[in-house]
Amino acid sequence: MSARDTIAAVATPPGAGGVGVLRVSGPAVPALARDLLGRTPQPRHAHLAAFRDADGAVLDRGLLLYFPAPRSYTGEHVLELHAHGSPVVLDLLLRRVCALGARPARAGEFSERAFLNGKLDLAQAEAVADLIAAGSEAAARAALRSLEGAFSTRVQTLLEALTRLRVHVEAAIDFPEEEIDFLADPAIAAQLEALRADLAALLAEARRGVRLADGLHVAIVGRPNAGKSSLLNALAASERAIVTDVPGTTRDVLRERVQLDGIELTLADTAGLRDSGDAVEREGMRRARAELERADLALLVSDAAHAEADLALLAALPPEVARVVVVNKIDLDGAASRRETRGREVWLWLSALTGAGLDLLREELKRHAGLGEGAAGAFSARTRHVLALERVAAHLEAAALTLAATRAGELAAEELRQAQRALGEITGEFTSDDLLGAIFSSFCIGK
Ligand code: GDP
Repeated sequence: MSARDTIAAVATPPGAGGVGVLRVSGPAVPALARDLLGRTPQPRHAHLAAFRDADGAVLDRGLLLYFPAPRSYTGEHVLELHAHGSPVVLDLLLRRVCALGARPARAGEFSERAFLNGKLDLAQAEAVADLIAAGSEAAARAALRSLEGAFSTRVQTLLEALTRLRVHVEAAIDFPEEEIDFLADPAIAAQLEALRADLAALLAEARRGVRLADGLHVAIVGRPNAGKSSLLNALAASERAIVTDVPGTTRDVLRERVQLDGIELTLADTAGLRDSGDAVEREGMRRARAELERADLALLVSDAAHAEADLALLAALPPEVARVVVVNKIDLDGAASRRETRGREVWLWLSALTGAGLDLLREELKRHAGLGEGAAGAFSARTRHVLALERVAAHLEAAALTLAATRAGELAAEELRQAQRALGEITGEFTSDDLLGAIFSSFCIGK
């Protein structure tokens, strides 16, 4: 790995605080640390130091920690200066460190170096950013699991199985006279099937990981007066929720963000889905539809008096979006709260007014948010990972079809090679500069 320059950045958030941390990484760190401390620092030891300007004036007094390579976050020599959390002091310190041979770091540059030095793979580096940005307890836990390698290990295991299979198939191609027999071997088909099953399981978990990291996006739809806002308020109030306005809400779509048992829900109360000749209402419907297409779940709110008529609204929902039908206002006819599965829909009978049956809805939302059964070991993931896994699945399917139909080893091997590549993109075994740039530039400076 080529010698890099030395980078520095304030690692704590902007603004005043009790403590502010300046992080420095690169080859100039040992000399820089000696300059600042007046002697050689002990590795991984908190030294109380006076941080001085070039003319000897004390800028601040704080802690100096030195992490020699390779046992550091970036894998390079790293220095941490813990000073008072004053933006002015931290800026002076940053200038001082730059005068001593560092330069200001770009966004995500520390994590990028950690990746390039093999300290973290790409999915783990992304988990660092996701942990920092986590909007709920569940998201934070899931991101930490990914950071500790829960997701990467699964990808690695699949990658090894895929490599073994590819070696098998390519070996067969090298012996053309035996190729047909070899590729007809049921063991190969079985191996490929096992791989596809493991991949399908991982894909489902990665999709859940995206929902855990991003929170669940729920679009609430239904006739005016069905009780959509009441339901939203009841959910929020029952959880003593942190309800925040989301910027950019339109008159037609009201959005609220709610923490529900440690998960983050974005609830969008959309305009009705009625057919209308009115231009304003048509625009409202267009937005409602766009909202639905982005949603993880559609919550169709109806009431006992209109449930059958509102069934028509179900047909108007985009077919791929998961849905839950809420029959509201059960207090009016004294019915009990309950849950029923009808075809692909879950139906819930409840009352937003009395709160009866709200617990059923909360359970349902948690299940959709990825906190259902088996969530204890859930890891976070990104859409980028899900898209890569979907490409892997497509290549494996093509490989299976090719082997079954034509026994064309070359073609199957090529599909396996592409599957391997797509899988390797998740952990960064195969990457492009564009991809790395896109990933790390979305980090904050100092990460
Ligand atoms: P939206 O137009 O779908 O948002 O409906 P609202 O939440 O504004 O509710 C319409 C009316 O129904 C209001 O008068 C609510 O108080 C009432 N309402 C909502 N939920 C219930 C419920 O569970 N039981 C009863 N009895 N009334 C309800």
